[in-house]
Amino acid sequence: MLRTLFDSMSYGPAPEASDVAEAWLEDHGRSFGLFIDGKRVMPASKKSIEVRNPASGRRLAEVADASTADIDAAVKAARKAQKSWGKLSGYDRARRLYAIARAIQKHARLFAVVESIDNGKPIRESRDIDIPLVARHFYFHAGCAQLQDDLLPGMAPLGVIGQIIPWNFPLLMLAWKVAPALATGNTVVLKPAPYTPLTALLFADILQEAGLPAGVVNIVTGGDEAGAALVDHLDIDKIAFTGSTEVGRLIRQKTAGSGKKLSLELGGKSPFVVYDDADLDGAVEGLVDAIWFNQGQVCCAGSRLLVQENIADPFLNKLRRRMTTLRVGDSLDKGIDIGAVVDPIQRDTIDRWVRQGVADGAELFQPDIPMPAVGCFYPPTLLSNVSPASTVAREEIFGPVLVAMTFRTPAEAIALANNTRYGLAASVWSENITLALDTAHRVKAGSVWVNSTNLFDAAAGFGGYRESGYGREGGLEGLREYVRPAWQTHKKTASTATTNGADPAGRAWGAAVAGRPARAGSPAKAGATPAIDRTAKLYIGGKQARPDGAYSRAVLGPDGVLLGQVGEGNRKDIRNAVEAAHQARGWADRSPHHRAQVLFYLAENLAVRTDEFAGTLCAMTGCSEKEARREVDLSLQRLFTYAAWADKFGGSVQETTLQGFVVAQHESLGVIGIACPDERPLLAMVSLVAPAIARGNCVVVVPSPAHPLAATDFYQVLDTSDVPGGVVNIVTGDRDHLTKTLVEHDDVDAMWYFGDAEGSRQVEYRSAANMKRTWVSHVQPIDWTAKEQAEGPAFLYASLQVKNIWIPL
Ligand code: NAD
Repeated sequence: MLRTLFDSMSYGPAPEASDVAEAWLEDHGRSFGLFIDGKRVMPASKKSIEVRNPASGRRLAEVADASTADIDAAVKAARKAQKSWGKLSGYDRARRLYAIARAIQKHARLFAVVESIDNGKPIRESRDIDIPLVARHFYFHAGCAQLQDDLLPGMAPLGVIGQIIPWNFPLLMLAWKVAPALATGNTVVLKPAPYTPLTALLFADILQEAGLPAGVVNIVTGGDEAGAALVDHLDIDKIAFTGSTEVGRLIRQKTAGSGKKLSLELGGKSPFVVYDDADLDGAVEGLVDAIWFNQGQVCCAGSRLLVQENIADPFLNKLRRRMTTLRVGDSLDKGIDIGAVVDPIQRDTIDRWVRQGVADGAELFQPDIPMPAVGCFYPPTLLSNVSPASTVAREEIFGPVLVAMTFRTPAEAIALANNTRYGLAASVWSENITLALDTAHRVKAGSVWVNSTNLFDAAAGFGGYRESGYGREGGLEGLREYVRPAWQTHKKTASTATTNGADPAGRAWGAAVAGRPARAGSPAKAGATPAIDRTAKLYIGGKQARPDGAYSRAVLGPDGVLLGQVGEGNRKDIRNAVEAAHQARGWADRSPHHRAQVLFYLAENLAVRTDEFAGTLCAMTGCSEKEARREVDLSLQRLFTYAAWADKFGGSVQETTLQGFVVAQHESLGVIGIACPDERPLLAMVSLVAPAIARGNCVVVVPSPAHPLAATDFYQVLDTSDVPGGVVNIVTGDRDHLTKTLVEHDDVDAMWYFGDAEGSRQVEYRSAANMKRTWVSHVQPIDWTAKEQAEGPAFLYASLQVKNIWIPL
């Protein structure tokens, strides 16, 4: 017998007992209400959702399907609770978060089993990865609560947070959202995914055990409509969403202009790059983890294999051999590698993608391994010979399907890796440290794992570039998503978008302005500056440029006297400016010392022209000379501030549970569109442009349309200060018309808009097209002369995105 076993090396079954989970379900009569204000309540809708074990198809329980009225009750409870929760000391909140972390550890096995039977994931993963990470998140954030005054000085909680999560890591996604919200003094209404609500309901049980005050966490189970009702609720201060890019886009549109803060953790199509000098066996094991962990239902799954051409055949053969040893089976069997896919609908979708890939010419490999006779399973799948343009290489399959492509040179590998609308994660495999780190630096993704994959920790932020969303979860950067500056009152308004996200009113917004040919105006007031006969051009790529339409706009002083003319920029001018900004992207690779020098030099050259700028400000705005001089002086101080920060904000080495380094690198966003306010025309522009370029971005600036002459005079300051052409481009004209082109431009990475409420809404709404980051002024106007409002880390954070590079020892 023993001998036969040695010969076959076959596994026997190693089931984890499910009795504790079954007993917990029975205790609740396999029927769950909502968890609102610390109590289980039946939904007003009286509707429920059936929850099944995908590995067997067996019914596990029924949970409430929340209606709009239920969501409203939960938000009210959260609002009431926030008043006292937000006032607790950091220490008091830390005690509660610590109690939650301990309770999770005490019930770890129960959580793991419930998670596995609900989702279908292997017990090995829920037991060794999901649940320990959940506890880790509450420990880490207990620490953040304790240190809140040191970590987040001058910041206040947002209030009530609506949180919506997907089904792939049900409890872990809950922890990523609930822990930082609570640590920073917010209360939450959380909606789990309809397929996998059970561990959130178990979490509600342990909250009571941990003594969390009623109403601080409310759990409302339900379908997509319940999620939509939460998004639409007027008394929510922020929506934190994890899910598909499609729904994320809709939520961006629906919350546009509402004043609700938004963070979006969306989909991905992450590259897994294998160079010819990689440890190939290690890389194969890495791939097993990258694409078959959690059945490939992982937002950051390494689903796009890019392998160097000269090793592609042996590497793929090794991989195919390894695939024949993977074991697919019941999630509670401790000896399986791949569990059940969450639902038959999801399995059918995966299968459709695979058939599409084959129809497009891909070569299919699925190992001949035993598959369970019942349940919702899909075999590990490799599609090779895939073209980068094919659908399966571009779209997120969200299943155990790897697509493989080849490359010849590192430059080609990086180009292919970045050839995606997503940017969530990447893995890089090479024994050559220079090549591995250079690739990690060039790949555009929020997490990059060197010779490793799928590493996570509460101390390292996680989140995307581009259409993978914005905002980070975890790390100190994740905390900032849940606070606002204490001076802000954070007003909210109803969005005027319809419930399906369509924009009912805004078609005419930003329409082309009727051009006005340059003309002589009424005579200038005696002594007013600048001279009347001057027509300032645009400033693009380091040169003055005539506006494409050859029109100009008159600039009038407060008493209606013509002060001068500026160019009336149009769509084409903005496109030229964006192109020039892209050509100047080498600015991001200049040393921070160099960028600091340029900013100091800008200040020096502005200082020598104080009289002239003060004169222009007086003439344009009618302010006193003293006020105008103060504005110039504060602008100089701002330039000094960001010259100072230019070489002190590059990121940090983060301590995590990994043996190695996790480098949280502060990367530039790319090209930022900046539409300036009319208040403080010089100071506001400098306050916005300086942090952006300090962090290596290139900008396209639309100066105040009412008072643009301070900006056009600034060209000469830029020219004399060694600012490379294209780093700062200035297009005068109508703010909304020019903003519309910027926000709709695919090659603009972020849009900052300081105009009116409708413009703010339009910018947020239209940003959804390529999920660009936005910063708009609808919340509250900034007092540009007040240091605590108009300068500092908030401006630097708006100018960067954090990339975490994981380098194991
Ligand atoms: P999904 O977008 O369909 O649903 C996610 C959640 O949103 C669910 O709770 C759902 O009920 C709710 N929802 C659906 N429509 C809604 C609407 N109109 N308004 C408000 N809420 C709505 O996504 P899914 O299929 O559950 O999850 C898979 C997706 O999640 C994948 O694209 C994956 O990449 C992504 N994901 C991303 C991360 C990340 O951190 N970036 C993590 C996990 C999963």
